[in-house]
Order: sequence, then structure tokens, then C-alpha cells
Amino acid sequence: MSTLIEKFLTLKDNYRNFDTRACLKRMQRFRRAVEKVALQGRPIALEILGSISFGIVEPGSDADCVLLHYCDLHGDGGECPDDCPNFVFEKNALAEALAAQPGAQPFNIEFLDCVNLTSIEKHLASEPFVQDPILYRMLYYCTVGRPVNRPFFIRYCKIMENNRDFMKGFIEWSSQALEAYLKTSTHRLSFEKYNQRIISTGLALPKELQAELKRYLEE
Ligand SMILES: [Zn+2]
Repeated sequence: MSTLIEKFLTLKDNYRNFDTRACLKRMQRFRRAVEKVALQGRPIALEILGSISFGIVEPGSDADCVLLHYCDLHGDGGECPDDCPNFVFEKNALAEALAAQPGAQPFNIEFLDCVNLTSIEKHLASEPFVQDPILYRMLYYCTVGRPVNRPFFIRYCKIMENNRDFMKGFIEWSSQALEAYLKTSTHRLSFEKYNQRIISTGLALPKELQAELKRYLEE
């Protein structure tokens, strides 16, 4: 029997076939904005969370993002704090680039997390690499989200996905994260910081889909 996260991915694949026009437009806006930030010397990538993963978005609705970048200031295996100068610069540059697009309806961007690929690289360089929560988190975003500039980070996902032991732990962890969300979709959980943020705000799934996922859960 497949795990919850695997069922979720099957659903996601099915829903992706029904991309709405608003969704495709928004993804294009993000791609252009990310290119513009790179021209300012800061190459980045994004994972967009929420119903956009299912090809569904309301024009003007908020976008929940996770930003992926390289940061040497916090590259010792740790994480970038909210006030990391690189993260702050990139957030602002991205928001400006989006706002500068002519004729497009504005929307708010919420940055739920920042993944430092310099750290990820360090974690993955040790053999065998440690099952660090930072790796789980990154792969979780990349699994449930919708990427902008995927080539920027995909090699790290591949390294994780090709490690059978790691994936065993990951699938269990991510299924729990998803299950917790489905059971408490309107309540905050005393989960770890990032899970809490993803679960409470990031995975705003359409009602029908929530119902469908709940049915999976109850099977
Ligand atoms: Zn940093």
C-alpha cells in the first residue's frame, strides 16, 4: 500500500493536467521575476506551495513561497535567519520584479522558509550523509510544491532520492507532516516551526481535494 505522500503525489499529477490560465500566468510571472533577480547577481529558485501545486490559483490571491539560494554567510551547515542580508535582498528584489510587471494584478508573497543550498551541499557531501531535518524539509518543499528555476537545485533532490535509507525516513516524515495538516486544517499544531508554517498556511488545498485526501487517510 502506498503512503500518504505517494498518494498525494498521484493526486497532484492528476490535478496538474487541469492548470488554469491564472495559474500558468502566475508561474510565468515568477519565472520572469526570478530571472531578473539573477541579473542582479543573486541566482535563486522558488518552490510555490499551496493550491498552485494542483494547477489552481485565484488571481490576486496570496502566494506562499520557499526561497532557495546559496549563502556563504550562513554556509557552515546552518540556516539563514530571517534577517540574512542575502535573503532580505532577494525577497525585496523578487517583490520589486513582480510589481514592475506591467498590467498584472498584484498579489502578496509570503516567504515561509529559506533553504541555503550551501548548507545542503555540505550535508550531502559527507558519506553516508546524516538524515538531517534540513534535508527532509528541503525535499518536502520540492515534493509538495511547484518549482521555479528547478535546474538550480534539482541535483540535490536527486542525491536524496537515490538514497534508499534516506527516502525511507523521508517518506515517513513527510507523510506525517501531511497527515497532521489534513487532520487539523484550521488549527495550528505544536509541531516544529517549519511544519507548523507549512501546514497552517502553505497547503491551502481546495475543499474537494481535502475531502479526497481525507478519504485516502481513512482507507
Ligand atoms: Zn544567509
